[in-house]
Amino acid sequence: MQCFYHPSVLSIGTCKYCQKGLCKKCARTIGEALSCKGACEKRVAVLNEAVAEEEKPEIDARTALRRNAILYLVYAGLFLLGAGGSLTLSQSEAGKVAGYVCLGSAAALLCGAAYTWSTARRIPPEVDRET
Ligand SMILES: [Zn+2]
Ligand SMILES: [Zn+2]
Repeated sequence: MQCFYHPSVLSIGTCKYCQKGLCKKCARTIGEALSCKGACEKRVAVLNEAVAEEEKPEIDARTALRRNAILYLVYAGLFLLGAGGSLTLSQSEAGKVAGYVCLGSAAALLCGAAYTWSTARRIPPEVDRET
């Protein structure tokens, strides 16, 4: 295939928008696509964006919720460790109070994790993939 603008020169590819052959001099690289210089550049950029939008791996609500639930669990575990440490190691009143506060936080986080997980379970998988 020859360059549309330079018939004597071999093209290196075609414009993604108008499909004309382009040589090295005429071609513009927009993302991973080629475009004529000038008018097509913007259009190819828009085309690329549209494709990128479609290919974006979409995290469904279920996965997102489960991820949150796991995060809550991790934090709850950390608070439990803190609580255990404070309650067993510290002799002071303040240390014990801190331990109970940690214990309370851990309990709250566990509830949050359970609630988030159960919410995730209620969402049917792949709801609106058809559209
Ligand atoms: Zn073009
Ligand atoms: Zn050319």
